[in-house]
Amino acid sequence: MIDVKTAFLLWVIQASTLAILLMAIWWHARDQKHFLWFGTGFLFHASGLGLVALRGQIPDFVSIQTANTISLLGFSLWVKGLAALDHRPAPRLLWIPPVVWLAGNLAPFIRMEFAFRVSLYNVAAAIGFATLAFIAARAQFSSRRDRALLVCIWGGQSAVTLGFAAFVIFQRPTSFADNYFSMWIGTLAVIGFVTSVVILAKITMDRSQEQLQALVRTDPLTGALNRRGFSEAYQGLVESTPLNTLAVLIFDLDHFKQINDRHGHTVGDRVLREFAEVCRSLLPQRAVFARTGGEEFAAVLAISEPRDAALFAETVRLALADRSIPTEDEAISVTTSVGIATSSLRDADLDKLLSEADLALYTAKAQGRNRTSLRSGNLTVTVPPVREDNIQVEVDRQASRQVAILKRISAVAHKLDD
Ligand code: GH3
Ligand code: MG
Ligand code: MG
Repeated sequence: MIDVKTAFLLWVIQASTLAILLMAIWWHARDQKHFLWFGTGFLFHASGLGLVALRGQIPDFVSIQTANTISLLGFSLWVKGLAALDHRPAPRLLWIPPVVWLAGNLAPFIRMEFAFRVSLYNVAAAIGFATLAFIAARAQFSSRRDRALLVCIWGGQSAVTLGFAAFVIFQRPTSFADNYFSMWIGTLAVIGFVTSVVILAKITMDRSQEQLQALVRTDPLTGALNRRGFSEAYQGLVESTPLNTLAVLIFDLDHFKQINDRHGHTVGDRVLREFAEVCRSLLPQRAVFARTGGEEFAAVLAISEPRDAALFAETVRLALADRSIPTEDEAISVTTSVGIATSSLRDADLDKLLSEADLALYTAKAQGRNRTSLRSGNLTVTVPPVREDNIQVEVDRQASRQVAILKRISAVAHKLDD
């Protein structure tokens, strides 16, 4: 059997290795703060254990009270790291392990007896493990399976550590050498630490993979889906919607080239972002929205009847026209034309819907832009684009606008129903 000093040394080496490894990972991925917290946690834990190992060579107060406080602060930092991984603020609970240890040391009968101090330290560590298990149980990160694994490891470590705290009270050892059992507990803790770090590394790798996948599907300028993301999300919507009609809408900003020419590309880019923001803020749940070309966007909605799609298009069109976009010289306003095609869910074909919506868009452009056209079968109708001053703006402006839009849609919708 190895002696106590060698065992402590091995634990210190192991904890320091994990500390260096985790901090090195953080150095290369600074936004992943949890690596910093986990790494610093191991650094504290290793330093504390190192000071405990120097018992007899340094003042007792440093190698007992200070050392164990530092080691238990490691738990606080791990809790902080785990909360950061879950994008949540750390709970106040994180300070309990070192506080329990310090408070217990105020009692002379604990402070003066080795067995009670070991027991107290293990109670504090058990609380630390339980806190980690508690956070993992409530967390949203990764898969349910990975989280359950972490809860089992930390929950198990908490139970074993608590059992050991009770055992020490009965056994009453007077020094570490007197209590070989503690080495097995320590070894178990080491295995637990390494396993949990491996799981956390896997969780982070899975997350990076997901972020990469999301990036491949996203337009960097507007944050909307790109064409690739669009077809995948369309498929997802078709497979999951309980409604039986599908509408594809194409939005094309009017005279966008002139905006670039007059105000520059930066303003043009800002306009594109503003449009995406307007559209996204009005989009119903589970609808799909993408940037499908330079100044062209598409949306897919699951609807009950075609007029739902026209209502959405008109709401977006008016909201955009309402918005004034600041530039260096003046505030500008932008308009969009919209083409809509609808189909029953059963017969829906994305390419066909897109080309039908494109035909409707062409009609909207040809009739003067800043309007919505719908295509159904061989028929295209355009919603009369009444201007803002003709809408009776009353107390509830938004509601009266919706009523006005519906009236205008109704004026043409009967043609589609025939
Ligand atoms: P219409 O009303 O008929 O749609 O005319 P338009 O000027 O909007 O259409 P056109 O197709 O002639 O011009 C589209 C312009 O969009 C041309 C291109 O330079 C610009 N554009 C494409 N992508 C971007 C982009 O990412 N940023 C900026 N600022 N402009 C872009
Ligand atoms: Mg265009
Ligand atoms: Mg255009």
